[in-house]
Amino acid sequence: DSSRLLPRSEELRERALKRTPGGVHSNVRLSGAQDFIARAKGAWLYSVDGRDYVDYLLGQGPNFLGHAPEQVVDAVAEACRGGVIYGGQHELEVRASELVCRALGWADMVRFGVSGTESVQGALRLARGATGRTKVVRFEGHYHGWLDNVLTAVRDGKWGAASAGQLSSHLDDFIVLSWNDADRLAAVFEEEGDQIAAVITEPVMINAGVIEPLPGYLERMRELCTRHGAVLIFDEVISGFRLGLGGAAERYGVEPDLATYGKAIAGGFPVSALAGRESLMSRLGTGEVNHSGTFNGSVMATAAVVATLTSLFEDPPYERVAKHGNTLMIGLRDIGQEYGLPLRVAGLPPAFHVAFGDAPVTDYRSLQQLDLARYERLSKALLENGLWVAGRGVWYVSAAHGEDELDAALTRFA
Ligand code: PLP
Repeated sequence: DSSRLLPRSEELRERALKRTPGGVHSNVRLSGAQDFIARAKGAWLYSVDGRDYVDYLLGQGPNFLGHAPEQVVDAVAEACRGGVIYGGQHELEVRASELVCRALGWADMVRFGVSGTESVQGALRLARGATGRTKVVRFEGHYHGWLDNVLTAVRDGKWGAASAGQLSSHLDDFIVLSWNDADRLAAVFEEEGDQIAAVITEPVMINAGVIEPLPGYLERMRELCTRHGAVLIFDEVISGFRLGLGGAAERYGVEPDLATYGKAIAGGFPVSALAGRESLMSRLGTGEVNHSGTFNGSVMATAAVVATLTSLFEDPPYERVAKHGNTLMIGLRDIGQEYGLPLRVAGLPPAFHVAFGDAPVTDYRSLQQLDLARYERLSKALLENGLWVAGRGVWYVSAAHGEDELDAALTRFA
């Protein structure tokens, strides 16, 4: 066992504290995990101390095919052997774009990136550039990444000047609304619709707790955007390729103008994508709106996308994931009942949240009425019992979770 040769978690913690802020990456700190991981395969993590964990965090979602999916790892290795190329003009980028458009159905063009944040930034810049407006409607509790406008810092330089009017530096430009409140959204459009460049939303809210749109809500959003000439952006960094190949548009029957992807799009490799209709996306090609980066569309990234989407097309895991997720959700609820715990387990099978309380939840504020601190204590105990889950309560199911993992999860939870 090669992990015998590794230092133990306790020693690594001490060494990490000296070299990395907070000791470890913030995602790991959020979970409260104490162990260091030596390797991972499928739905399992193995610590340097020889402990194993069923992973329901999946690195905050990217490992939707499980850890080290062979077809993706092999494809990336082969692409690297063929020469590491950045910046496009590679056949892999063409194939990757075609597969994304085929999966989504509504999109014509794709620009690949490295992080979800970056694709969101591109979507906002494109919407502002296309409409000549600056305001953006967003929703409480929806996460869109660490937006911080590096370009704003160089706005007097060549690239900044070329992007004047597209930069999202002013907090005042964001109109923050409660999720699932269609009347308020309509009222805002009534008041200042001619200044709104875009509406950006997690079409199903996942990051802060899983809340689906109420029936008719996304249709209304679509209709308001169309009527007032605003760009509808679905931020699908976390929902994309997890809900199904066609994403939120397929599930809810509403098509956006632009959408952002990341996480599950590349089997765990760091890739994001901005996809959209030709009328908007072609502006990127003309240089009218700038959005590019050194590592965008690399052979590693696009090989990972091609292998991941090919696998999702050939062997769609969605029914399996749904079955696993549903059984798990029911199991957790039952165990809660058995022990007299008011557990709220809600959401979709590929991503659901667990919290304490029974308040009806339709938006971020009502979610905050739940006893999230109590769940945080539970999640620490779960980690000690071999379930790798986040302190914030969202659980992710991967294509690699099967019967064994379900049995282990329910036994360890109980
Ligand atoms: N948008 C959504 C909906 C996300 O879930 C995330 C990440 O969690 C992001 C944007 C930011 O993506 P990244 O962390 O890859 O920059």
